[in-house]
Amino acid sequence: MNKKVYIETYGCQMNVADSETVAGIMHSRDYSAETDINSADVIIINTCSVRDNAEKKIWNRLDYIKSLKRKNKNLKVGIIGCMAQRIAEKLLEHPVVDFVAGPDAYRNLPDLVSETDIGFKLSNTDFDISETYSGIEQLKTGTDEISGFVAITRGCNNFCSYCIVPYTRGRERSSSYKDIIAEVKSLANKGFKEVTLLGQNVNSYLFEDDENKVDFPLLIKMVAHTVPEMRVRFTTSHPKDISDALIDAIAENKNICNHIHLPVQSGSNKVLELMNRKYTREWYLERIKTIKEKIPDCGLSSDIFCGFSGETEEDFQETLDLMNIVGYDLAFMFKYSVRPGTAASKNLEDDVPEEAKKERLSRMIKVQNKISLAKNRADIGKTYEVLVEGHSKRSEEMLFGRTEQSKVVVFPAENAKRGDFVMVKITEASSATLKGIIV
Ligand code: SF4
Repeated sequence: MNKKVYIETYGCQMNVADSETVAGIMHSRDYSAETDINSADVIIINTCSVRDNAEKKIWNRLDYIKSLKRKNKNLKVGIIGCMAQRIAEKLLEHPVVDFVAGPDAYRNLPDLVSETDIGFKLSNTDFDISETYSGIEQLKTGTDEISGFVAITRGCNNFCSYCIVPYTRGRERSSSYKDIIAEVKSLANKGFKEVTLLGQNVNSYLFEDDENKVDFPLLIKMVAHTVPEMRVRFTTSHPKDISDALIDAIAENKNICNHIHLPVQSGSNKVLELMNRKYTREWYLERIKTIKEKIPDCGLSSDIFCGFSGETEEDFQETLDLMNIVGYDLAFMFKYSVRPGTAASKNLEDDVPEEAKKERLSRMIKVQNKISLAKNRADIGKTYEVLVEGHSKRSEEMLFGRTEQSKVVVFPAENAKRGDFVMVKITEASSATLKGIIV
């Protein structure tokens, strides 16, 4: 009888896509996907290491799973993802954990699971620079048949000094453009309305074979032309690699969404240097200026954090000033927390007091909320195409969806349903949401 595998995912969209790959690998070896953790024979937890809190969640979850193991002695529990890569041995010491696998070791997960049957605890955290999981049919673990994710690169070579990803996901490698096109076509055949191309830094995508040398601007055009009825999105971009060719590709192709997520992290050149971000404030602002000239209605979002080593009040003021110059529609904002194993943890003092970090974070959030409110209010009276994602949490009569700028819109349902593209005229706005009516 098929064994049932339950997969739980934490962290970024990259992990969501990886969990679907793992589900496909387990399925290919006769495991069936289980959505109820209490009925599983195997539990796989896909983890994130980007911040301390992300890892704390996993230790708490393992304590809960202890009770399930008491009820089912044959239950197998495995940890995968970035935390698995970072602290495999420590995880194996936990009484509940039977196996651990890093992001390059998913292909032989079924073997790892079966080898634990003889009572061993096992881990595989070998890096494999050639591994892109090409040829693996992803299995959707969620029920959302609207948006699909296709990982186009794995790993990262940028070594930003605060970041653990290059140590947990290994060196950068690009999937074959033929595999990517095949995955996108399979999503279209399954009725998906949107595809997001994923990578730690999609802009440095590069794949060469006997026929073609394909960089990211060419790849995204190939995808857009292959599925003209689907929306095409991408994340995450590194500002040092955002080229005019990519900006032109977005401007010239209607189904490539006019939205760019461009993490700036800081507005101070001194801090950007300490972060090893490899661009300056001036370079970043010039890219933003070019985007606004070529794609006037482009939605802009970013990742920004405060309190990095050596950040003074003047440096922080430069970050707030840059936020006002750019006018992001949305920003993900954090205060710096040291990640053991990063260059910063070894070479830079965490010298900004916790209280100052908290205070700066709340000021940054205030500034961004003011900007988002002004940007959203400027949309009142305009009409946008919205991809309906579902019913609003607040009312069954209301639907929600996103504009191509990735803004959330809530509106009365009328006869529309999930997966429809509808035209919505904006009538109200808050800093987080737009409201409107179907026209
Ligand atoms: S680009 Fe920098 S922040 Fe992003 S994953 Fe790579 S090292 Fe981390």
